[in-house]
Amino acid sequence: MNGIAGGDATNDPALRSWLTVPETSDFPIQNLPFGMFTSHDDPVPRAGVAIGDHIVDLVAVHESGVMRFPSADMLRGSLNELFEFGVGPVRKRLSELLTAGNKELGRAANRAITSMAGARMHMPFSVGDYVDFYSSEQHATNLGRMFRPDDPPLLPNWKHIPIGYHGRASTIVPSGTEVRRPSGQRWGPDGPTFGPSARLDIELEVGFFTSRSTELGTSLPVDAAHDLMAGVVLVNDWSARDIQAWEYQPLGPFLGKSFATSVSPWVVTMEALAPFWVDAPAQDPPPLPYLAAEPNRALDLHLEVEINGVVICRTDFKEMYWTMGQQLAHVASNGTALRSGDLYASGTVSGSGPGRFGSLLELSWNGSQPIDLGNGETRTFLEDGDTVTIRGWCQLDHGPRIGFGECTSTIVPAGE
Ligand code: CA
Repeated sequence: MNGIAGGDATNDPALRSWLTVPETSDFPIQNLPFGMFTSHDDPVPRAGVAIGDHIVDLVAVHESGVMRFPSADMLRGSLNELFEFGVGPVRKRLSELLTAGNKELGRAANRAITSMAGARMHMPFSVGDYVDFYSSEQHATNLGRMFRPDDPPLLPNWKHIPIGYHGRASTIVPSGTEVRRPSGQRWGPDGPTFGPSARLDIELEVGFFTSRSTELGTSLPVDAAHDLMAGVVLVNDWSARDIQAWEYQPLGPFLGKSFATSVSPWVVTMEALAPFWVDAPAQDPPPLPYLAAEPNRALDLHLEVEINGVVICRTDFKEMYWTMGQQLAHVASNGTALRSGDLYASGTVSGSGPGRFGSLLELSWNGSQPIDLGNGETRTFLEDGDTVTIRGWCQLDHGPRIGFGECTSTIVPAGE
């Protein structure tokens, strides 16, 4: 059981490590997120756990004999097999090994603990299927107001169904991967043309991976859905608005989205997030029974977006109308088979009020109000060379900061 309330000894705010962890780190000993990294000359990504500015190399820990896994192979390539095995006990044991006073790693620590600065991060999971939702009422309302000003902003199904679409798994990339401006077909005054997108945008999102597969023909209640979640990452669902606007009717997002989706590389586990669940916003009308959860829990996660070092958005994930549990229960409700390593993204996270919208489309109100970057520059949509960085963290009062690291990418010009 992951449990979505409270936590255990690994979440104790008083825990300290014998490793030096900077006060402002996203990765205190209470976090211990999992990722895939390479360092030195080993070309095969291996599983690691972040603490402060260090990575604990799980292959080296296994080889030291201090903690044994069924095989070293399950720690290479992707996190899929490790999460199917179960990371709760692994994280608990690592918490013990890293706690101040523990000397069990001994001389093995030299090999097992490596500098984050010398490592390259890779995709944490091998992603089989990718779903993107549309679960922020504010975001859906903003888009309705922009594009259907004479109608009610929310379509009639929106408060009954967690709306989503199946995206493209092959173009999900880890933070740090450059994003090439896509070319595509868009509508213009003289009819359709093909060329580089002129309205390249971000979507600030939060995603979760699934840890296990399910049998075709089975569904999943909202409460059980949490037990299938491996952990949470930050997502940037890059969107070419001009391509999207011309292609999306009648079947929804397609090539305006599938050129790149970025994720943060460290998977913050459900175990680390246990203390940060709060009541989700009230739902009116009440959802159908298969989507009902009592209580319906949302993650209290703070988010911000920077362009070229300037913060353009600060918002909160807990304001989303549809919760992660409801999203996964909805996907499984028709009996589809879920796979280990599926990625489910929340949809653009937009809060209410200025500066709390999670896309440039909304922040610039469809390009009509340029965003002042405060350094003599403005933006409506992204320019080549722009670097977008998403950050996120959970924190109670002055407790440990359970951070997600960065989801960052730079835009490079369209290809020939
Ligand atoms: Ca999206």
